[in-house]
Amino acid sequence: MIQRKEENILVKISIKIQKQIEELVKQVNEYDYYYYSLDKPKISDQEYDEIFNQLNNLEIKHPQFIDKNSPTQRVSGTALEAFKHITHNNKMLSLSNVFNNNEIIDWCKKNMEEVSSSEILEIVCEPKIDGLAVNLTYNNGEFIQAATRGDGYIGEDITANIRTIRSLPLKIDYKKKISIRGEIYIKKTEFNIINNQRKKDGFDIYMNPRNLAAGTMRQLNPAIVSERKLQLFTYQLINEEDNSQFNNTHHENMMSLNELGFPVNSLIKKVKGEKKVIEYCKNIENIRDSLDYEIDGVVIKFNNLKIQNMLGSRSRSPKWATAYKFKAEQKYTELTAIAITVGRTGTLTPVATLKPIVINGVTVKHATLHNEKYIKINNIDIGDTVAVERSGDVIPKIIGLKKGKRDKRTTFLMPKKCPFCLSFIKKNISTSEAQCININCKERLKKNIIYFVSKECMNIRGLGTQIIEKLIRENIIRNISDLFYLYLQKDKIIFLEKMGEKSVSNLIDEINKSKKLPLNKILTALGIHNVGSEIALLLAEKYTNIDNLTNAKLEELKNIEGIGPIVSNSIFEFFNSAETQELLNKLKSAGLNMHQNMKINSVEQKKTYLYNQNVAITGTMVNWTRSELFELLIKLGAKINKTITKKTTILVVGTDPGKKLTLAENNNIKKLYEKELLDLIK
Ligand SMILES: [Zn+2]
Repeated sequence: MIQRKEENILVKISIKIQKQIEELVKQVNEYDYYYYSLDKPKISDQEYDEIFNQLNNLEIKHPQFIDKNSPTQRVSGTALEAFKHITHNNKMLSLSNVFNNNEIIDWCKKNMEEVSSSEILEIVCEPKIDGLAVNLTYNNGEFIQAATRGDGYIGEDITANIRTIRSLPLKIDYKKKISIRGEIYIKKTEFNIINNQRKKDGFDIYMNPRNLAAGTMRQLNPAIVSERKLQLFTYQLINEEDNSQFNNTHHENMMSLNELGFPVNSLIKKVKGEKKVIEYCKNIENIRDSLDYEIDGVVIKFNNLKIQNMLGSRSRSPKWATAYKFKAEQKYTELTAIAITVGRTGTLTPVATLKPIVINGVTVKHATLHNEKYIKINNIDIGDTVAVERSGDVIPKIIGLKKGKRDKRTTFLMPKKCPFCLSFIKKNISTSEAQCININCKERLKKNIIYFVSKECMNIRGLGTQIIEKLIRENIIRNISDLFYLYLQKDKIIFLEKMGEKSVSNLIDEINKSKKLPLNKILTALGIHNVGSEIALLLAEKYTNIDNLTNAKLEELKNIEGIGPIVSNSIFEFFNSAETQELLNKLKSAGLNMHQNMKINSVEQKKTYLYNQNVAITGTMVNWTRSELFELLIKLGAKINKTITKKTTILVVGTDPGKKLTLAENNNIKKLYEKELLDLIK
């Protein structure tokens, strides 16, 4: 009897604690909403911390009551190995642009005519946040997934990172499956704090808040993301279950988002008529600098969702919306010095050092001066006051000059020797280009390695500028191929870099992973003059392996569509130099994959692409159930593999792919995404 009573008391206490935790979760969520979404804190930071800690302590003591959507659970403990791919249910489009008042008027008129509206239609205007687009999925009232835009069809799964954003509700009062589109950004103040710290710590600084936000979203460790304080604005609501709309208008949808707890920009406004749109754009441009987030224009949308539907979309962008882009901002400052940089091809570029100036909330300290001729023509000199322009990712430019005070002007001259390796430079009189032609120039090597490991090329993470500099200085890296032999000097690197063994191992893993990249990536990374990622892909698909390309005749290269005489000459010269052949041989013996899978082009190839192939499947498909997919694949002549075996040649990849994807990537098995499979059977 007594025991029974004690049990009862225990149950009661435990219910009480559970209730208390639930109540605290509710409170913290509400304070978060006021603080992060509305920017109107309800209580002091100190009071907030107290309540948050109270919740945290209770949860630590009673882990059985932790709700996975508790505000204390935003950061998951483990770092990811890689981002999974996600196929978007609804394509993520980008926006067309208008650049001036006339184009705004034309855009409004043209579309109103198209829907032959007799009355003036409502238009919703909102600031265009200069961040990164994200798709958030909720089901059953819970946040389940976040994906980047990617190519519009397939994005990357960044759920764990996005969970750390405090203004993102993890639970909402709506049960159906919905997608919410928004923009991830970082506040200007936060950007400056982080950059200052990075500079102190000797890291590369970020160019602008968007680059920082992008770099942060690609972090594999959510704990780091959490420290970076990403922010969110939402601007679109999509019903994923059927085509029904929540409301009749976009503006009402935004109000609904707000009620569900999502941050919606407070400057959003409903207007009528082109004049009002222009007025809104002008007003926003005027207050642009006073906002703590970067904007690069105004998004203009038709408010009525039926009208939006009638107007529809082009392949890349909706017709019912457009973006008015601001002109790049210009400011005057003093040019205090001219420095010389040497690029990976050896080109010397004069760079202006400026008295730091804030343009659109970002501090600008350097601007490109292109070459000697540019400086001469524009009569630029040290001590001048210059007009500087900065827009988006582009390096700031000097676009004008207030004459300097001095009567006597010194004329800038390019140095005769490379400032880094001291070898004589070669000058091209007609283009005014100066070049360091020493192939052993360490500055050139550094720039080459930075480019080689960049995301667009071999995507080797963990090799920052500072480490590269040190490895070159210590003669551990003397050419690109040395990267692939770093593992032999692991101990030396740990010692030199004061890096942990784990991070050096991670770096070596990254390098090994990059060996399996297809030929087009390597061709891009080699930095052949005039060959960017597009031409690299063209070449890789035509020649399929490096030997075929090496043996290609000049005439043949010239005749490839999309490659002119200049480009074909650079390609031919590159592959016919002894240096290149030596490098390629070293890369080959290091085990780099120098092949490209065939692209499926012709109808005939499409028909037979899966014929007689051993095909495995991972993830779920949007268009087929598992058994429907089996049926389809068998119809196309494929043999189904339950698991990945030595025989498997193709892996069909859906949403939420499992371990098979990594296995396939490690074994050079071709991947076929759902979208590609759809193309195949079209
Ligand atoms: Zn040099």
